[in-house]
Amino acid sequence: MSQNSSLAAEERRRQLDYITSITKLYFLHSPTLFASSYIWSKDDRYYFIELRLDMAYVSSSGFIARIADPPYYLGTIVKTTYLYPELFMGTCPNDDLPTLACSYSGSPLSERVTQHMVCIGCGWEGEIERRGWHTRSKALRKTQAEDLKRHRQLMESDPDFKPADLRDLLRSLGVPEEDLVLPEIERKIETRDDGRFVHQRDPYGGVKIEDRESGCTTYYDWHGLDE
Ligand SMILES: [Zn+2]
Repeated sequence: MSQNSSLAAEERRRQLDYITSITKLYFLHSPTLFASSYIWSKDDRYYFIELRLDMAYVSSSGFIARIADPPYYLGTIVKTTYLYPELFMGTCPNDDLPTLACSYSGSPLSERVTQHMVCIGCGWEGEIERRGWHTRSKALRKTQAEDLKRHRQLMESDPDFKPADLRDLLRSLGVPEEDLVLPEIERKIETRDDGRFVHQRDPYGGVKIEDRESGCTTYYDWHGLDE
């Protein structure tokens, strides 16, 4: 590989390190972000902050289905949650207050959806499993389509438009500086070998599956680390 393309690959990995650590910060502060969304969601620089959520189902044999396609904007996730409370909200086991889904995954085959929930009251976090993958996929994709259109119009009217840094949004909400340190991303590939299939996962959520029997390799958003 030429020096230029390896420099470009490193630059891309640096961007991925950033958006992956920003997404970790989003999970850490999602109770604050959801509770105050009526303030910040009116500002497009905050609304269109991009997250790197893992919304794909990858089967052991390499079948891949996404509940929605990236980009995943902060505002889209929050808006969809409030628009469809029956699909994306629940009840906290501690205090019976509403919980909000800040990320989802699952399988279109079994219809199972795993929602990562946070409580707006006590900050409880946990994962719940529900059925209705297709219904939720449809709801999310509908908000996404509207938001993508709005984003396109925004870029047309202001080609210099750039979303804000999530840390600036959190600062404006009074989160102290010591809670805004970006989590370090360990550049490591995880490998699982079950005989026929070799599964690898990169630190950014990408997946590579090799089928020893057929010789086929499936890639999902894969970013190797060795170029
Ligand atoms: Zn609670």
